[in-house]
Amino acid sequence: MKKFFTISTFIMSMFLFFNVSTAKADTFGGGRSNSNRNIMVYLDSSVANSSYYNSIYSYARSYWSNTGTSFSGFLVASSNSPTSDEYCVSTTATSGLLGRTYPYKRVNGSSVTATNNEYWEWCKIFIYSNQMDAYSMTDDQRRSNAAHEIGHSLKLAHTTANTSSVMLQGIQSIQPTSYDIGQLRSKWNSI
Ligand SMILES: [Zn+2]
Repeated sequence: MKKFFTISTFIMSMFLFFNVSTAKADTFGGGRSNSNRNIMVYLDSSVANSSYYNSIYSYARSYWSNTGTSFSGFLVASSNSPTSDEYCVSTTATSGLLGRTYPYKRVNGSSVTATNNEYWEWCKIFIYSNQMDAYSMTDDQRRSNAAHEIGHSLKLAHTTANTSSVMLQGIQSIQPTSYDIGQLRSKWNSI
């Protein structure tokens, strides 16, 4: 497991060291292939076959859709194109790990793991049902968790400012804030 290259959401602040390399900014470097158009989304069968988690992700997308940026459109595709973000719900043995986003780039026609600050083609997003269950997270908290991971897919890092943000780590019941929208706009300029 290439933890160094992934973006994880832990409950415990002790795990913040995973993100030391990105702690100086609230957005990641590089870009992503679909930064100026609608985000293509493919629902893994783990989500497509779960009306509950399909709804959780749908709410999370709607949160970002209300930000009024060019990322306001998420197009859910029936097939998994090479640049579609893939949404999944899974389980993990790592206690306190609520979600994880894996970025990928394309090299010689194949998808390989990218670093946070590289140019991304697509992301694979996980939220972990057994950990959310373990903390008896509410529907709103699970929606926020999914929105947090989608925020990573838009190249938002963990918020370092002392402010309200969906990109803070931990359990929250929150939608993207004006701070998050400002970060999105600062990252992508005229969106
Ligand atoms: Zn995170």
